[in-house]
Amino acid sequence: MKLAVLLTPHGPPLWNILFSVLVDGGKKRRIPFTMRVFQGLLAIAFASLLASCQDVNPQAQRWGNRMPQTLPQVTPVQLYNEANIRVTMIPKGTVGRKFYRPMTPRYITIHNTENTSSGADAMRHALALKRGALKSRMRPGGNRIGFLTWHFTVDQNIAAQHLPSREQGEHADFNGPGNNYSIGIEMCENRGNDAARTIDRAAKLAAYLMYVYHIPVDNVVPHYHWRRVGSSPEHKPCPHWLLDNGRPGATWRWFQGRVQAHFNRIVPGPVAGI
Ligand SMILES: [Zn+2]
Repeated sequence: MKLAVLLTPHGPPLWNILFSVLVDGGKKRRIPFTMRVFQGLLAIAFASLLASCQDVNPQAQRWGNRMPQTLPQVTPVQLYNEANIRVTMIPKGTVGRKFYRPMTPRYITIHNTENTSSGADAMRHALALKRGALKSRMRPGGNRIGFLTWHFTVDQNIAAQHLPSREQGEHADFNGPGNNYSIGIEMCENRGNDAARTIDRAAKLAAYLMYVYHIPVDNVVPHYHWRRVGSSPEHKPCPHWLLDNGRPGATWRWFQGRVQAHFNRIVPGPVAGI
């Protein structure tokens, strides 16, 4: 009854305005100019509210729809096995591991390989890293070891591990916290590699690492998060799969939600070495 009163033109002023917008549509009566401006603003507000409810990009929505919706509980070791990690380290003391640089992981940094050639899968990246094929010019304030390195490369089938997660890589921000404190995970985008499966595997791996190193989900960050002093752009638009207009937004939050969903599956227990 009260609602009916509120929805008549004789209700309080705000409802008068809403009524005239929603029911009158400004057609039946002469509406003052200021009221029409207000109607316009209100319409824009409604439209942006609707847009904000669905601003995970459509591609990410399709990926999400293809991921398992029911997620059974797992022990840490079971989640490690689901991530399907293949240990294929860069040999100690060689190329990108010439210098021993210990690390206490506080963050997890997610990347895209930006390598779309067919065959550029996780094991191919493992080989390139072992051979020292991914060189980078060493310079003060820039690359510190002459090579690009990171910890894991994930594709639709496996997660290849290249570095112990307690050693520093060279994948994020030169001598910044991204390299000094974060575990780097690259997602493959070679032709024929399934993105939804790759992203879900990266989310599982991130959840497992969160558990092992007590890392909060807010510290699972896109490469974009780190400032690359002296580079242009300072914030690299990476991983491009999970950014909106080159920046972290709704799609990134959706990914963090997936990481958290896998983390929530974990029942406490011993962990596998990583
Ligand atoms: Zn990156």
